[in-house]
Amino acid sequence: MEGLPGKPVPGRDSIEPPIKLWVPEEEITRPIETRKKEFSKRGFKIEREHVREHGLTLGCKGCLNADSGNPVAKNRTATCRERFLKIYEEHKPEKLLKVTEKS
Ligand SMILES: [Zn+2]
Repeated sequence: MEGLPGKPVPGRDSIEPPIKLWVPEEEITRPIETRKKEFSKRGFKIEREHVREHGLTLGCKGCLNADSGNPVAKNRTATCRERFLKIYEEHKPEKLLKVTEKS
């Protein structure tokens, strides 16, 4: 009789059902949970409208991107962030307050 359920694996001497073979294997191959969320400590978000309002920072791809209307956010340069930090301190302190409350 061929193809009966519970038939031992050919070449295997054990009378244990084959199911014993793959259960532990699945345990091993199960991906390890690496749900570590990457929180970028960028502090505050520089918005496109503010870039337009205050001008682009020289050499900052983030500003160039915002100006060209590209929806993909690019990293700001340190100079740019410092500059906008000052701008926000002066013009929009509530924006910075919100951030500090969160973190
Ligand atoms: Zn910038």
